[in-house]
Amino acid sequence: MRKTLYIIGLSTLIFSCAAKKKTVAATYRPKIASTTNKTAGDNDSEAARRPQVKTENGVEFYRENIANIANNDNTTSYGSIVSAKPQGYKVVKTYFPSMGQNFRQRFLILHYTALDDSRSLTALTQKSVSAHYLVNNLGDNEIYQLVDENKRAYHAGISTWRSDKNLNDNSIGIEIVNVGYTADATGKKTFLPYSDGQVKKVAALAKDIVDRYQIPATNVLAHSDIAPTRKQDPGPLFPWKKLYDEYQIGMWYDEATKQNFYNLAVTDFATKYNDPSFVFLVKTSLQKFGYGIDLSEKWDDSTKRTIEALQYHFRPQNYDGIMDAETWAILQALIQKYPAK
Ligand SMILES: [Zn+2]
Repeated sequence: MRKTLYIIGLSTLIFSCAAKKKTVAATYRPKIASTTNKTAGDNDSEAARRPQVKTENGVEFYRENIANIANNDNTTSYGSIVSAKPQGYKVVKTYFPSMGQNFRQRFLILHYTALDDSRSLTALTQKSVSAHYLVNNLGDNEIYQLVDENKRAYHAGISTWRSDKNLNDNSIGIEIVNVGYTADATGKKTFLPYSDGQVKKVAALAKDIVDRYQIPATNVLAHSDIAPTRKQDPGPLFPWKKLYDEYQIGMWYDEATKQNFYNLAVTDFATKYNDPSFVFLVKTSLQKFGYGIDLSEKWDDSTKRTIEALQYHFRPQNYDGIMDAETWAILQALIQKYPAK
C-alpha cells in the first residue's frame, strides 16, 4: 500500500516539478510547497519545518524529527551526515530534506561470545565475525564499540524473524563475554551465569539503542531466536524478564493470560501430544510468533531446537526442547500480546 502511495507521490512531484520549470526565475531557490499566499515570513516558516543541520566539533547532525513518527519515519541523525563531495559541485543538505526516511537499525540482537575476554576481542576484531558492541566481564564501566552503528556487523549469520531474513542487514548486535555452556555425556547443557555488572551494562546499552531507533519490543531478540537450529546464545541464564520488568526492554508474556491458556490445555495435553494435527498446530504457532520453521506433522530435531530457543528466552527453568503445557501456554500468551502485523 505504501509503495503505491510513494509512486503516486513521486508522479505528483515529477508533474509539479515539470510545471514549475516554466516559471523558474534566475534567482530561484527551491521551496517546500505551500498552499498559503507567499509573505515575507514564509521563508522562516519553511525553514522551521526543515530539520536543522547542527554542527558540533566539525561534525554535522540532524537533531529534530519532522517526519511522521506514526509511520516510524524519522529525520533525526546520530553522528555525522555522510555526503558525497562531487568535484566542482556543491551538495546541499537543507533544501530537500525528505520526510520519507527512517532508520535501517530495526532489530537488536543479543549474543554471548562463548570465549573469555581476550579471546572474545580477538575473535570479534581480527576475523570475519564482528558485533557493534562488546560487553566485557572485567567489572569496569567500559563497553567496547567495534563497528559503527551505521555499518553492518557480521553477527547474525543465516537468520529469520517473522518476515525478515538476514538480520545483519538491519540490526545492531551486542556480544557479551560469557563462555557459554558445558554438555554432559547425555548432551544436557549447563550454562554459565552473567555477572550483575554485565547485565547492567547490557541493559543500559540496549535501552539507549532501543530508544534512539524506536526498535519495537518484538525486534529485541536472542541469537537463538533468529537462528534456533544453529545457536543457543545468549542462553537461559540471560535475564530477559529482568530487562523487561526493570528496563522495559523486549517482550514478556502476561502471567494471567498464560495461566488461562494453561488451564485450557493441561487436561488433555498428554493425550494429543503425538496427534499429527497437534504437531502441525505447534509448528504453526511457533511460526506465527516469529520463528523460522518448516511446517510438517512430525516432531523433528529442528522443532525441538526451536522449542528450546523459546524456552531459553521465556521458560528458562526447563529448556528440554519438549512442548509441554506450560511452554504451550507461554507461546499462546506471547502470540496474543505481540501479534504479527
Ligand atoms: Zn551469537
